[in-house]
Amino acid sequence: MPYKRKLTKCRKRCTISAKKGGSKSTARLIRIQKEESPMCEAINGIMGKTPEDLLKGSHQINAVPVDLSAILEKAKISVIPSQDFSEYEQNTGRRVLGALATKGDSAAIFYNEKEPSMTWHRIRFTVAHELAHACLSGDKFHIAFRYDDDKEGQSEEEINANIFAGALLIPKKSLLKQIEILLIPTISLLADAFDVSRSVMEARLKFLGLTDMVLT
Ligand SMILES: [Zn+2]
Repeated sequence: MPYKRKLTKCRKRCTISAKKGGSKSTARLIRIQKEESPMCEAINGIMGKTPEDLLKGSHQINAVPVDLSAILEKAKISVIPSQDFSEYEQNTGRRVLGALATKGDSAAIFYNEKEPSMTWHRIRFTVAHELAHACLSGDKFHIAFRYDDDKEGQSEEEINANIFAGALLIPKKSLLKQIEILLIPTISLLADAFDVSRSVMEARLKFLGLTDMVLT
Protein backbone atom coordinates (compact mmCIF):
# COMPACT_ATOMS: atom_id res chain seq x y z
CA MET A 1 0.00 0.00 0.00
CA PRO A 2 1.33 3.45 -0.83
CA TYR A 3 1.92 5.72 2.11
CA LYS A 4 1.70 9.47 2.44
CA ARG A 5 4.72 11.55 3.22
CA LYS A 6 5.77 15.16 3.16
CA LEU A 7 8.75 16.41 1.21
CA THR A 8 10.13 19.35 3.08
CA LYS A 9 12.98 21.63 2.13
CA CYS A 10 14.31 22.68 5.50
CA ARG A 11 15.38 26.21 4.65
CA LYS A 12 12.19 26.89 2.72
CA ARG A 13 8.64 26.91 3.90
CA CYS A 14 7.40 25.17 0.76
CA THR A 15 6.35 21.56 1.02
CA ILE A 16 4.92 19.19 -1.48
CA SER A 17 2.46 16.58 -0.30
CA ALA A 18 3.42 13.29 -1.83
CA LYS A 19 2.54 9.65 -1.88
CA LYS A 20 5.26 7.11 -2.28
CA GLY A 21 4.93 5.21 -5.54
CA GLY A 22 5.82 1.57 -6.01
CA SER A 23 8.55 0.12 -8.15
CA LYS A 24 6.07 -0.66 -10.92
CA SER A 25 5.31 3.00 -11.46
CA THR A 26 5.79 3.01 -15.23
CA ALA A 27 3.48 0.07 -15.75
CA ARG A 28 1.03 1.74 -13.39
CA LEU A 29 1.21 5.01 -15.35
CA ILE A 30 0.44 3.22 -18.59
CA ARG A 31 -2.40 1.36 -16.87
CA ILE A 32 -3.79 4.65 -15.56
CA GLN A 33 -3.61 6.09 -19.08
CA LYS A 34 -5.64 3.20 -20.47
CA GLU A 35 -8.18 3.30 -17.68
CA GLU A 36 -8.61 7.05 -17.52
CA SER A 37 -12.12 8.40 -17.49
CA PRO A 38 -13.05 11.43 -19.60
CA MET A 39 -14.72 12.90 -16.51
CA CYS A 40 -12.00 13.52 -13.95
CA GLU A 41 -13.30 15.77 -11.20
CA ALA A 42 -9.84 17.09 -10.28
CA ILE A 43 -8.94 18.06 -13.86
CA ASN A 44 -12.39 19.48 -14.58
CA GLY A 45 -12.08 21.64 -11.47
CA ILE A 46 -8.80 23.19 -12.57
CA MET A 47 -9.16 23.37 -16.36
CA GLY A 48 -9.25 26.93 -17.71
CA LYS A 49 -7.78 28.48 -14.55
CA THR A 50 -5.00 31.05 -14.83
CA PRO A 51 -1.95 31.33 -12.56
CA GLU A 52 -3.73 34.26 -10.86
CA ASP A 53 -6.81 32.08 -10.26
CA LEU A 54 -4.66 29.41 -8.62
CA LEU A 55 -2.87 31.96 -6.42
CA LYS A 56 -6.12 33.65 -5.38
CA GLY A 57 -7.79 30.29 -4.75
CA SER A 58 -5.02 29.30 -2.33
CA HIS A 59 -4.83 32.75 -0.67
CA GLN A 60 -1.32 33.42 -1.97
CA ILE A 61 -1.76 36.41 -4.23
CA ASN A 62 1.25 38.15 -2.60
CA ALA A 63 3.11 35.07 -1.36
CA VAL A 64 6.86 34.86 -1.95
CA PRO A 65 7.79 32.11 -2.49
CA VAL A 66 4.61 30.48 -3.75
CA ASP A 67 3.62 27.36 -1.84
CA LEU A 68 2.73 24.82 -4.55
CA SER A 69 1.41 22.35 -1.99
CA ALA A 70 -1.42 24.73 -1.05
CA ILE A 71 -2.45 24.97 -4.72
CA LEU A 72 -2.22 21.22 -5.24
CA GLU A 73 -4.18 20.54 -2.07
CA LYS A 74 -6.94 22.89 -3.20
CA ALA A 75 -6.98 21.24 -6.64
CA LYS A 76 -6.92 17.76 -5.03
CA ILE A 77 -3.89 16.75 -7.09
CA SER A 78 -1.28 14.51 -5.45
CA VAL A 79 2.44 14.67 -6.14
CA ILE A 80 4.13 11.28 -6.39
CA PRO A 81 7.89 10.71 -6.59
CA SER A 82 8.26 7.92 -9.09
CA GLN A 83 11.28 5.68 -9.04
CA ASP A 84 11.04 3.91 -12.32
CA PHE A 85 10.28 5.47 -15.67
CA SER A 86 12.80 3.19 -17.39
CA GLU A 87 10.25 1.21 -19.39
CA TYR A 88 8.72 4.37 -20.77
CA GLU A 89 12.15 5.89 -21.38
CA GLN A 90 13.31 2.79 -23.26
CA ASN A 91 10.21 2.87 -25.43
CA THR A 92 10.57 6.55 -26.29
CA GLY A 93 14.34 6.98 -26.11
CA ARG A 94 13.88 10.12 -24.01
CA ARG A 95 14.44 11.04 -20.41
CA VAL A 96 11.23 11.59 -18.46
CA LEU A 97 11.05 14.40 -15.90
CA GLY A 98 7.43 14.24 -14.90
CA ALA A 99 3.92 13.23 -15.81
CA LEU A 100 0.33 14.14 -15.16
CA ALA A 101 -2.10 11.25 -14.86
CA THR A 102 -5.64 10.61 -13.73
CA LYS A 103 -7.56 7.66 -12.44
CA GLY A 104 -11.27 8.09 -11.98
CA ASP A 105 -11.78 11.46 -10.28
CA SER A 106 -8.23 11.59 -8.89
CA ALA A 107 -5.28 13.30 -10.54
CA ALA A 108 -1.59 13.02 -9.74
CA ILE A 109 1.64 14.57 -10.87
CA PHE A 110 4.58 12.20 -10.98
CA TYR A 111 8.19 13.29 -11.05
CA ASN A 112 11.28 11.22 -11.77
CA GLU A 113 13.14 11.07 -8.47
CA LYS A 114 15.87 8.89 -10.00
CA GLU A 115 16.79 11.49 -12.62
CA PRO A 116 20.10 13.05 -11.42
CA SER A 117 19.13 16.49 -12.69
CA MET A 118 15.97 16.57 -10.55
CA THR A 119 16.99 19.14 -7.99
CA TRP A 120 14.47 20.69 -5.63
CA HIS A 121 14.02 23.61 -8.01
CA ARG A 122 13.57 21.33 -10.99
CA ILE A 123 10.95 19.30 -9.12
CA ARG A 124 9.10 22.52 -8.30
CA PHE A 125 9.18 23.68 -11.90
CA THR A 126 8.20 20.23 -13.24
CA VAL A 127 5.20 20.11 -10.89
CA ALA A 128 4.17 23.64 -11.93
CA HIS A 129 4.64 22.67 -15.60
CA GLU A 130 2.41 19.60 -15.27
CA LEU A 131 -0.18 21.66 -13.39
CA ALA A 132 -0.09 24.07 -16.33
CA HIS A 133 -1.05 21.31 -18.74
CA ALA A 134 -4.08 20.50 -16.59
CA CYS A 135 -5.16 24.16 -16.59
CA LEU A 136 -4.36 24.98 -20.21
CA SER A 137 -5.72 21.97 -22.02
CA GLY A 138 -7.21 19.63 -19.45
CA ASP A 139 -4.52 17.07 -20.28
CA LYS A 140 -5.13 13.88 -18.37
CA PHE A 141 -1.94 12.12 -19.31
CA HIS A 142 1.14 14.09 -20.11
CA ILE A 143 4.81 13.22 -20.01
CA ALA A 144 7.37 15.99 -19.77
CA PHE A 145 10.62 15.00 -21.43
CA ARG A 146 14.04 16.34 -20.70
CA TYR A 147 15.31 18.19 -23.73
CA ASP A 148 18.76 19.15 -22.45
CA ASP A 149 17.87 22.81 -22.98
CA ASP A 150 16.98 22.19 -26.62
CA LYS A 151 14.33 24.88 -26.70
CA GLU A 152 14.11 24.69 -30.50
CA GLY A 153 12.50 21.27 -30.19
CA GLN A 154 9.68 22.42 -27.91
CA SER A 155 6.12 22.60 -29.18
CA GLU A 156 3.91 25.63 -28.61
CA GLU A 157 2.03 23.65 -25.97
CA GLU A 158 5.26 22.99 -24.06
CA ILE A 159 6.36 26.61 -24.34
CA ASN A 160 2.96 27.78 -23.06
CA ALA A 161 3.15 25.33 -20.15
CA ASN A 162 6.58 26.74 -19.25
CA ILE A 163 5.28 30.31 -19.45
CA PHE A 164 2.34 29.36 -17.22
CA ALA A 165 4.67 27.66 -14.72
CA GLY A 166 6.89 30.76 -14.67
CA ALA A 167 3.89 33.02 -14.04
CA LEU A 168 2.70 30.76 -11.24
CA LEU A 169 6.05 30.53 -9.45
CA ILE A 170 7.10 34.11 -10.21
CA PRO A 171 4.00 36.35 -10.45
CA LYS A 172 4.85 39.65 -12.19
CA LYS A 173 3.43 41.84 -9.42
CA SER A 174 5.41 40.03 -6.72
CA LEU A 175 8.55 40.12 -8.86
CA LEU A 176 8.31 43.89 -9.36
CA LYS A 177 7.79 44.31 -5.61
CA GLN A 178 10.86 42.21 -4.80
CA ILE A 179 12.97 44.17 -7.30
CA GLU A 180 11.82 47.33 -5.52
CA ILE A 181 12.53 45.92 -2.04
CA LEU A 182 16.04 44.65 -2.84
CA LEU A 183 18.58 47.45 -2.79
CA ILE A 184 20.67 45.74 -5.45
CA PRO A 185 18.43 43.17 -7.16
CA THR A 186 20.38 40.31 -8.70
CA ILE A 187 19.16 37.21 -10.51
CA SER A 188 20.49 35.01 -7.70
CA LEU A 189 18.76 36.99 -4.93
CA LEU A 190 15.47 36.94 -6.83
CA ALA A 191 15.80 33.23 -7.65
CA ASP A 192 16.41 32.54 -3.96
CA ALA A 193 13.42 34.65 -2.89
CA PHE A 194 11.05 32.84 -5.26
CA ASP A 195 12.62 29.41 -4.61
CA VAL A 196 13.36 28.80 -8.30
CA SER A 197 16.54 28.09 -10.22
CA ARG A 198 18.63 30.90 -11.63
CA SER A 199 17.79 29.79 -15.18
CA VAL A 200 14.04 29.89 -14.48
CA MET A 201 14.40 33.40 -13.01
CA GLU A 202 16.47 34.52 -15.99
CA ALA A 203 13.85 33.18 -18.43
CA ARG A 204 11.03 34.91 -16.51
CA LEU A 205 12.85 38.25 -16.43
CA LYS A 206 13.55 37.97 -20.16
CA PHE A 207 9.93 37.04 -20.91
CA LEU A 208 8.68 40.07 -18.97
CA GLY A 209 11.31 42.39 -20.46
CA LEU A 210 12.71 43.18 -17.01
CA THR A 211 16.33 42.11 -17.49
CA ASP A 212 17.53 45.72 -17.47
CA MET A 213 16.19 46.20 -13.93
CA VAL A 214 18.30 43.38 -12.48
CA LEU A 215 22.04 42.81 -12.13
CA THR A 216 23.33 39.49 -13.48
ZN1 LIG B 1 4.86 19.51 -20.89
